[in-house]
Amino acid sequence: MSLTKYIFVTGGVASSLGKGIISASLAKLLQARGYKVTIQKLDPYINVDPGTLNPYEHGECFVTEDGAETDLDLGHYERFLNVPTSQANNVTTGGIYQSVINKERRGDYLGKTVQVIPHITDEIKRRILSLGTKNKFDVVITEIGGTVGDIESLPYIEAVRQLKWELGANNTLYIHLTLVPYLSATRELKTKPTQHSVKVLLENGIQPDILVLRTEHELTSDLRKKVALFCNVDPNAVIQSIDVSTIYEVPILMQKEKLDEIVLQKLKLETQEKADLDEWKNFLKKRQNPKYKVKIALVGKYVELPDAYKSINEAFIHAGAVNNCGVDLIYIHSESIDENNADIMLKGIKGILIAPGFGDRGIEGKLIAARYARENNIPFFGVCLGLQCAVVEFARNVLKLDKAHSTEMSPKTPFPVIDLMEEQKGISEKGGTMRLGSYPCNVKKGTKAYEAYQTHSIKERHRHRYEFNNFYLDDFRKAGMIATGINPETNLVEIMEIPDHKWFVGVQFHPEYRSTVLNPHPLFISFIKATIS
Ligand code: GLN
Repeated sequence: MSLTKYIFVTGGVASSLGKGIISASLAKLLQARGYKVTIQKLDPYINVDPGTLNPYEHGECFVTEDGAETDLDLGHYERFLNVPTSQANNVTTGGIYQSVINKERRGDYLGKTVQVIPHITDEIKRRILSLGTKNKFDVVITEIGGTVGDIESLPYIEAVRQLKWELGANNTLYIHLTLVPYLSATRELKTKPTQHSVKVLLENGIQPDILVLRTEHELTSDLRKKVALFCNVDPNAVIQSIDVSTIYEVPILMQKEKLDEIVLQKLKLETQEKADLDEWKNFLKKRQNPKYKVKIALVGKYVELPDAYKSINEAFIHAGAVNNCGVDLIYIHSESIDENNADIMLKGIKGILIAPGFGDRGIEGKLIAARYARENNIPFFGVCLGLQCAVVEFARNVLKLDKAHSTEMSPKTPFPVIDLMEEQKGISEKGGTMRLGSYPCNVKKGTKAYEAYQTHSIKERHRHRYEFNNFYLDDFRKAGMIATGINPETNLVEIMEIPDHKWFVGVQFHPEYRSTVLNPHPLFISFIKATIS
């Protein structure tokens, strides 16, 4: 018999209803009752991972400690649960097919015809089950990306259908999230799309146990009863998920709706311990009544889609609460800044963050923003490409190295202050070949970084190919920009600072991936503090 319980979350009617947030909220509530929980995302696209996807397509690519490039929902899982995820928490159709085809090439299928059922579905089931058993989780919540009825998600739906049959009704649970639209002309909430969506699930052999209904208006008990009757679920298993101002309120809402209690009852798990959400509520309170307010500019080239910078946005929310500060993040398109308008565009801005990114587009605007922060003593935070921009700007305008650049943007620059890492030379494949995941860094005492971290050895997550060129280290130091964080194994520069500036820190890694509600990132806390003072 399985010791781990498996919950499957599907979505219907429309995409973007917030399956990730509902899954993370339920996980939070179960964790707060003492259960060991993890969340997994199954993505129906054929890319092996989202690393090769343009951020405009799918938002940010979230990087795990073990160096997997994953869906941004894993960021929510970590921010809610305060527990790191791993490669195993994100499964894609591309990844599934890749392993099945590799097995076929090795001859593992002993001459059999390889088919969606059973070979693809078996591989999906293996990925779901191994996450639970390997790590001894009490509960694994598996979120199936997309909307039921999509061609792409059929093998996933079939795989989780089989799992109930294999593991038994007490060990598996289906939660279906749908939308109840409001027709303003008739002032009515409509349940028909939900009924149809459940019918599609039933056609695929799945009877949902719990329905979570996303709505803009309160659902009456009559409406809930009607949905329960037509969709064949218990009346108390029709849960309302009403729009709220922040995703961090959803666990509290779900607790009020008793989602966790119903889940525990259905899975025959103990319910006596009440979920303790005191720390969480404390964070919400601080966030709702901030003492200070600051405007911080995020300069990037994907600003039309804020999801492209999801983790940075959330890191500001977490660290803002610690500082009793509401951060008004102003997204500035790097292509829109030039020398003549920087003053106007950055007026009233108390801090500037230059975002991660790839390629040449918008790079000059980022250099102008970095210069503006340096010359006007405005707190500056450079993240990955942001650090590289600060270095290039300093080389050009302080060291007077004309046309200094990163070889990513200008392969023939006379002063390659940012250059391709040794281990990257000769790599031509794009997928999964960057420097990825967690690496150690030693932080120098007496620096802004040390003040923030309060410790010498740290570990941070990476996603890049280029690095600071150590050939120029001495020139930078003499001119006032110093390396304050170094990888002890490779000597790669991880953090650079200008000690004479109010707060000027650039990092080669991505601190935003490690920020959670209960563990806000020290550099974001310190940066915001500098913008308030
Ligand atoms: N494009 C830069 C590099 O590959 C920076 C990457 C990033 O910002 N994540 O080094």
